[in-house]
Amino acid sequence: MDDRGSWHGIERSLLEWYPTIDSTKCNDCGMCILTCGNDVFRWNMDRNEPLVQNPGKCVIGCTTCGKLCPEDAISFPDDPKKFVRGVILKYKIFPKVKQDLEERIRKFPDHSVHLKVIENE
Ligand code: SF4
Ligand code: SF4
Repeated sequence: MDDRGSWHGIERSLLEWYPTIDSTKCNDCGMCILTCGNDVFRWNMDRNEPLVQNPGKCVIGCTTCGKLCPEDAISFPDDPKKFVRGVILKYKIFPKVKQDLEERIRKFPDHSVHLKVIENE
């Protein structure tokens, strides 16, 4: 089940995006667990290897851990651009994205700038 609820209005559990570790390639270096800021991985102390513990927390379209894995042991269900574009088209998410943006700016006013302010700094 989803650990994050929804992604721009789409139930996260409907979106199949998560890393898979090929244990035949993995060298147990730990780079993936140190790289992911979203608590997707845990360290399996019994087998001394990484584990995908919270797949529903993986950021939609992110492949950072896969890029940094020195053994190319991490894969994803699809090409990230293709996947995200497919989701955008299928669920027509832009009105919700716009709403989310407005909410973000309202909640965190420092996430927006006025160019005149930057020019005067
Ligand atoms: S970064 Fe790759 S090789 Fe290193 S522990 Fe994670 S999956 Fe294994
Ligand atoms: S793809 Fe990104 S969010 Fe997902 S597990 Fe890897 S680093 Fe974490």
